[in-house]
Amino acid sequence: MSLDPFKIAQEQLANACKIKDISNEVFNALAEPERFVRIRITLKMDNGALKTFTGFRSQYNSARGPMKGGIRWHPEESESLVKALSAWMTWKTACVDIPLGGAKGGIICNPKELSNTEQEKLARDYIRKIADFIGPQIDVPAPDVYTNPQIMAWMMDEYETIFRKHSPSVITGKPLPLGGSAGRFVSTSKGGNYCIREAAKDMDLNLNGATVAVQGYGNAGSWAARLLHDEYGCKIIAVSDSKGGIYNKNGLNPHKAFEHKVETRSVIGMKGTEDITNEEILELECDVLVPAALENVITEKNAQNIKAKIVAELANGPTTPRADKILFKNGIHVIPDFLCNAGGVTVSYFEMVQGYYRYFWTEREIFEALDRVMTNAYNSTKESADQHNVDHRTGAYLISIDRVIEAMKLRGRL
Ligand code: GLU
Repeated sequence: MSLDPFKIAQEQLANACKIKDISNEVFNALAEPERFVRIRITLKMDNGALKTFTGFRSQYNSARGPMKGGIRWHPEESESLVKALSAWMTWKTACVDIPLGGAKGGIICNPKELSNTEQEKLARDYIRKIADFIGPQIDVPAPDVYTNPQIMAWMMDEYETIFRKHSPSVITGKPLPLGGSAGRFVSTSKGGNYCIREAAKDMDLNLNGATVAVQGYGNAGSWAARLLHDEYGCKIIAVSDSKGGIYNKNGLNPHKAFEHKVETRSVIGMKGTEDITNEEILELECDVLVPAALENVITEKNAQNIKAKIVAELANGPTTPRADKILFKNGIHVIPDFLCNAGGVTVSYFEMVQGYYRYFWTEREIFEALDRVMTNAYNSTKESADQHNVDHRTGAYLISIDRVIEAMKLRGRL
C-alpha cells in the first residue's frame, strides 16, 4: 500500500468521483494541479559557505477564487506532498465555502538549523522566485509547518518591494501590526474545537471531563489542548511532539506542558507524567484523539487499535485510505482534516478581506464568524456522509467536488 501523499489524495478523489458517477474526463480535470512551480535557491550562509535549496508552489485549482495555502519548511518536504496538500486546500476552501481556490508551497530545509538571517534570506528569495505567480487576486500564501508570522512579514515585504506598493493581502498569517487578523494564531485549533463540540453533541458525549490525547504540540496541537481544557473542561491525558510524549491518566496541565516545551524544546520529562511514544499515544483509551502533527500516522497497521470515539484531524493527511475503512467500520467518528483544520484558512480569508478594506474586526467578531462557518461545514459534511452512507471524509469530498465542478462549469472550463 503506497504512502505517497499525492497518490493518496488522488485515490480519495477517485473514490468520491465514483460515488457521484463523475466521468473520467472530469476526474482528470480535477486530478492534477493547474500549475506547478519548482525553484532553486542558493544562499550564502552565515559562515560564508554556499547552500542550495529546492522549493515548490503547487497551484491546484483557481475556479472558486484566488488560490490559497500555506508554505512548509521541512526536511521531508517533497513534490508529491506539496501537490497533495494543494489538492486538500482546494477541497478545504470549498468544504467551508469560502471564495478561494487551493495551493500549497514548501522548501526542503531544516529551519531549526538556520539562523535568523539565513531564514530571512531564504524567505525573501523564495518570494523573488515565485512573485510572478502569486498576488492578492492570484494565489495567497500563509504559514504552515515550521513557518510563522515573522517569515510571512519578510515575504510580504519582499513582494511589496518588488511591486513597489502596499499589498497586505498577498499573504496571511502576518503579525498583527502588519495587518494580521485578530485570532489567526489560534484559528486552526478554534475551528477544530468547534467541530469537536458539534461531534460531541451528535454523540451525546459530555466534553466536560472527556479525555483527550493530542499528537503534535506545535501551534495547532498545543492550542487545541489548551482551549479544549480551558473552554470545554476536557481532561488532557497525553500530549506528544517529535521527540516523544507524556501521559497521566488523571489529566495533565496543557499550559504547563507548553511552558515545559518552550524551556526544554520538548514536552517529555514534565513533572507528574510518564513517558509514552508517539505510536502509543494514538492507541490510548480516550474520548477524543487529535492527530496534530504530520501525515500518514494512522495506517492499516494501527487503525484497528484506535480506541478514541472521535478522531479530530488537525494535521493534514494523518489517516491513510485503508485506515479510513477500518475506522469507519469500527464506528469511530472521524472529523476529516480538510474540515477539521479549516479554521486557519477561514481566518486567513477574513485577514484578506480586512486587508482589502484596511478595516479590522475584533477577536470576538472573528470567532463568531469562524464558529458559523465551521458549524455549517460540519453539519453539511455529516448530512452528506449520512445521506450517502459513507465516512465523513468522503461526505466532505462529495460537497467540495460538487462546488469546484459547479464553478468550473459556470466558467466554461468543463
Ligand atoms: N496552512 C494552513 C492550512 O493547511 C493555512 C492555510 C492558509 O491560511 O492559507 O490550512
